[in-house]
Amino acid sequence: MEIKDYGEKLRSRELKVALKIHSDSRKFFSDFLRAKGFIEIPPVIISSVTDPLNHPTEKALISAGGFSYELTKSMIFHKQMVLNTYDKIFAFSPNIRLEETQKKLTGRHLLEFTQIDLEVKNATREDILRLGEEMFIYAVKNIKEVDGDLLDSVGRVLKEPQAPFERITYGEAYEKYGDEFENKLSSEKSFPFWIIDIPVGQREFYDREDRDRPGILVDYDLVYPEGFGEALSGGEREHEIERIIERIERKGEKTEQFTYYIEFVRNFGLPPSAGFGIGIERFVRFVIGAKRIEDIVPFPKAPGEFYPI
Ligand code: AMP
Ligand code: MG
Repeated sequence: MEIKDYGEKLRSRELKVALKIHSDSRKFFSDFLRAKGFIEIPPVIISSVTDPLNHPTEKALISAGGFSYELTKSMIFHKQMVLNTYDKIFAFSPNIRLEETQKKLTGRHLLEFTQIDLEVKNATREDILRLGEEMFIYAVKNIKEVDGDLLDSVGRVLKEPQAPFERITYGEAYEKYGDEFENKLSSEKSFPFWIIDIPVGQREFYDREDRDRPGILVDYDLVYPEGFGEALSGGEREHEIERIIERIERKGEKTEQFTYYIEFVRNFGLPPSAGFGIGIERFVRFVIGAKRIEDIVPFPKAPGEFYPI
């Protein structure tokens, strides 16, 4: 992007529509969660512990007064810990993920984005799938009501889905479509759907393994239809210290990377929980039907490109 492109972009109809939808999405998600008794907690932006993620990203380190921190990739550990204070919490959580250059081509990766990241004490997968469906439908319905004219102006016909959403196991999807199953299914479907029962090697150590089906996690992704791809990821969580350490080791990760998290869990414990994080920019992109995620953000940072502002 060059400086002259910003003038054009900031005056464009598409961005004007996108920013209004973005602003309203924040409101509707937040209204919905507050009405369900959730407490909004402040985001954590620097910490000595953050999500290892299951895919490679460059470490975003920052030092202050001689102390070193990492910029947040997700607030997973902080969400679990703060369930000692409140049972239902959410944050508008800015994340920095220095994704590989090749992710530039997906149209859905930014180096900085915001998740609505929520977690519920003692919740099961079933509880959170229902909550996610209700929250999604609530936001779409209200946006259609409030911003219907704007959607018309960009030629977007947004369908309101009905609960329950279709569920497909990772195993079924993989068997039918192979590695590219998410994109293929996403392009084929007209309504959002869940991918459940993701194998242990495909996710991070903190997602709970099904005790009755070793190797399978009690987790889920919501996938947008019409080719827009993944909307959110979540799961029930490992919360017992022995299981956490066993899973870190099985993953081939070093426990030292999580020293303070482990020390916290040893001293204070964690309750069982489940939750998810939904990327707001991806949601806005889907609602508008924009080709690329960069197009709906005023000052985007997509991988593999320099942005002057
Ligand atoms: P994860 O738990 O890693 O799947 O991240 C949670 C959600 O954040 C995803 O389902 C997306 O909606 C969003 N997200 C993750 N990575 C990115 C990215 N690089 N750019 C934009 N949104 C993202
Ligand atoms: Mg994911």
